[in-house]
Amino acid sequence: MTDASERTLKGTGNFLLDVLAPGDLGLIAPFLQRVDLRQGQTLFEAGDEVNTIHFPCGQTIGALLVVMRNGDVAESATIGREGAIGGIVSQGNLPAFSRAVVQIAGPAYRIEAARLQAAKQQSIAIRNLMARYADCILAQIVQSVACNALHPIDARCARWILTIQDRIGNDHLPVTHQFLAEALGVQRTYLSRVLGILQKRGLVRSRRGTVEVLSRNALEEVSCECYACVRLHYDKVLIGVYGEQNPTNGARAKLKA
Ligand SMILES: [Zn+2]
Repeated sequence: MTDASERTLKGTGNFLLDVLAPGDLGLIAPFLQRVDLRQGQTLFEAGDEVNTIHFPCGQTIGALLVVMRNGDVAESATIGREGAIGGIVSQGNLPAFSRAVVQIAGPAYRIEAARLQAAKQQSIAIRNLMARYADCILAQIVQSVACNALHPIDARCARWILTIQDRIGNDHLPVTHQFLAEALGVQRTYLSRVLGILQKRGLVRSRRGTVEVLSRNALEEVSCECYACVRLHYDKVLIGVYGEQNPTNGARAKLKA
């Protein structure tokens, strides 16, 4: 198993695909189509039949959003190069429960759900990997329910920034205040105040269209325990998918406290 940087250079740039052995990847490689996803692009709406699965590559990030009847939107999961967007556990061709949109533009590999399903039937490794990934997504969503109910906005904001940073592997997050406000389900002006506080403490630098992480360790200390809980679950369930990039001591210490 190679580390994350090698996989990014030599592989597809999607950790789930790149962790597969060549024989398993060979079952789906002929059907993978590389595409460029645009920011704001809708991959599917709630109720749509999901017959295509996307594997984000590099810095590409998508989100699963729940849309209320009055139009309010809240994010329920963030998915980047560590995962896939679509009917991972099901055989595809089932109605989506949420909307999936592209948050950060970039490349992805697309495959028909039926092709992936056929490969899962041929390969226990692919079946196991997708089932384990689905368990991680469920963990992320379950934790977010508790997080949204129990934790203050500054801690949730720090958690979200760390989650995005893990997925793009870069200190410069190409996100606007509006984008971040929608992800956290708060007003933009309120979110700007929260970012201002984090900036005053030297944790981030917020500029037009970018949030720069200045101190990851300090952000982990401000974040609620939810970041580390979910991240460590990914590391345990999908061993090696994130490579050597583990949460640092701040996050681990928070879990032990
Ligand atoms: Zn939390």
